[in-house]
Amino acid sequence: MPPREATRRVWLFDLDNTLHDASHAAFGETHVAMNAYMIDHLGIDHDEAARLRQHYLHRYGATLLGLVRHHGVKASHFLEETHRHPGLEQRLRCSAHDRAALKRLRGRKFILTNAPRSYALRVLNTLRLADLFDGVICIEDMTMFGELRPKPDARMFRHIAARLKVRPSDCVLVEDVLENQRAARSIGMRTAWMRRYIEGRYRGHLRGGATSGANNARKTGPKRREVGVHPCPSPQYVCAKMNSLLTLLRLR
Ligand SMILES: [Mg+2]
Repeated sequence: MPPREATRRVWLFDLDNTLHDASHAAFGETHVAMNAYMIDHLGIDHDEAARLRQHYLHRYGATLLGLVRHHGVKASHFLEETHRHPGLEQRLRCSAHDRAALKRLRGRKFILTNAPRSYALRVLNTLRLADLFDGVICIEDMTMFGELRPKPDARMFRHIAARLKVRPSDCVLVEDVLENQRAARSIGMRTAWMRRYIEGRYRGHLRGGATSGANNARKTGPKRREVGVHPCPSPQYVCAKMNSLLTLLRLR
């Protein structure tokens, strides 16, 4: 019989760059599509679109929020137009060890992602991860009082724990983005920092078994700072840092 706290525990897993290598599979295309959307719908040039996208990402945690609040963009339209990702399935990859760890992990498991549902389900189904989760909480589900409140909104984290009928201290947020962990920790959740997919570090294999040329090319490229990666190696609000989900099996 597992200890009570193990069965009561709720795992909240981010999707992109936590469960799969999104820098390789999707992020480049998403950023291009977001810039194009802003150029088309806001009537601005490429440089201004890139600047504004970064500004809203840092200020609100999601470009979408800035566009909804300041430009009257309809969220569903933006998400649909910027997450088409033709051929995404062929680029997706994840770690077999991570999949095995997810199967062994006790407690309820949920996906908690700022991505739209159609994209999240596509990724989970392709990587054969969907059956390992009790539910998928996407950006469409993160609304309070009629307003979008995606990560890193601390009130949304509290709201999700209440919806799942647990205390925040029963939850563990597994994430690559530190701003999200800081917010979750501030309301008492535990946090685990996944570092496997920090850009250029992953040396994994594509689904078909071929070594990733994109990743190898990055080995010699200039080192870029990932959004959300804190210069301090162990911020206080990070309870555990890891390169594999196997580490979670030992988390107390
Ligand atoms: Mg992520």
